[in-house]
Amino acid sequence: MGKCIRHPDRETHLVCMKYNDHLCDECATCRDPELYCKFRTACPIWFVYKEKNRKIRDAS
Ligand SMILES: [Zn+2]
Repeated sequence: MGKCIRHPDRETHLVCMKYNDHLCDECATCRDPELYCKFRTACPIWFVYKEKNRKIRDAS
């Protein structure tokens, strides 16, 4: 567990293993979605990010 880099008052389990950034659910966005990342297959941030994108697509 760690604190969100944008919300120091929020504890989060989401962490980017590439940059070691903690991000809360609201902030969970891949920093380099276009770049290859060896951690991606196991990345909880990527998972949340994909879900968010899917919801945006479904809504439009
Ligand atoms: Zn946050």
